[in-house]
Amino acid sequence: MPAKILDGKSCAEDFEEQLKSRISNCTVQPHLGVVIVGDDPASHVYVRNKIKSCERLGIRSTHLEYSSEITQSELEDVIHSLNEDTSLHGILIQSPLPSHLDEESLTDLINPKKDVDGFHPINLGRIVQGRLDGLMPCTPAGVMEMLRWANVDLSGKKVVVIGRSFNVGMPQALLLSSKGADATVTLVHSRTKDVKSECLSADIIIAAVGIPEMVKPDWVKSGCIVIDVGINRVEDSSHVRGWRLAGDVHPDVAKTASLLSPVPGGVGPMTVAMLMSNTVLAAEIQHQ
Ligand code: NAD
Repeated sequence: MPAKILDGKSCAEDFEEQLKSRISNCTVQPHLGVVIVGDDPASHVYVRNKIKSCERLGIRSTHLEYSSEITQSELEDVIHSLNEDTSLHGILIQSPLPSHLDEESLTDLINPKKDVDGFHPINLGRIVQGRLDGLMPCTPAGVMEMLRWANVDLSGKKVVVIGRSFNVGMPQALLLSSKGADATVTLVHSRTKDVKSECLSADIIIAAVGIPEMVKPDWVKSGCIVIDVGINRVEDSSHVRGWRLAGDVHPDVAKTASLLSPVPGGVGPMTVAMLMSNTVLAAEIQHQ
């Protein structure tokens, strides 16, 4: 039996419906500021999608675009002024930044109450403490929401998370193993000896590695649930534009898995939905 598709787009639509009623109960209109530096085409597409989602939901957005020549201290001044702007509830710095800019120290400057990416050390640290009511990183929070939506019982399940980045893999492992989710998590990474055999022992695999189609059909035991976080551009001359999007999971895994999230249309829409949710939460926190 081929895997059922874990449709992130439908999940995001259902999630946004609930969000609309929260927005209508907000005492202020949530307001997101999106900072983009340089002219990376993919980043501009991501920012446009985020702004479109804001418009759809009635969230105000301000798009702040800077040339790739901007200096670290100029960008720090931008963050300071956004922190001070009481009409704005969420600050997002679109990644990646040009290499002369230090993304980590800019994130440190964002007021944690406005940190809608959930990357500030205070917000990441809260997850370690099991305080899951704050601003959490959008992609791992989106994966948790997708699993809830699909009625996946995580308790006691063996989950393998591939990738240990601060924005996806590491917080994902913490959320899965937190009280209430109760999964038993193995976090594998570039120094893991035998990723395939770790995967073969998993009830659930979350792939967040950035290597196109790395997880092969013979890495997955029958009935496994597979969430593909990866978004990779691969050259494909059969495609009009000369490239296509590929996940971190080989499409033939659908033959072995019981549930598989597609790329595109899986985790991506949920990441944007969680950004919207964080913006609403940030407005709620600042206007309690
Ligand atoms: P990253 O490069 O920061 O981290 C990749 C991780 O993979 C690292 O921790 C590394 O140790 C691990 N890794 C590298 N090679 C490995 C190997 N051979 N075996 C096992 N582990 C290995 O990437 P990231 O930001 O976590 O993103 C991962 C993927 O998810 C990328 O394709 C990215 O585009 C995608 N992504 C998607 C969304 C979304 O909304 N769907 C959001 C964020 C990232």
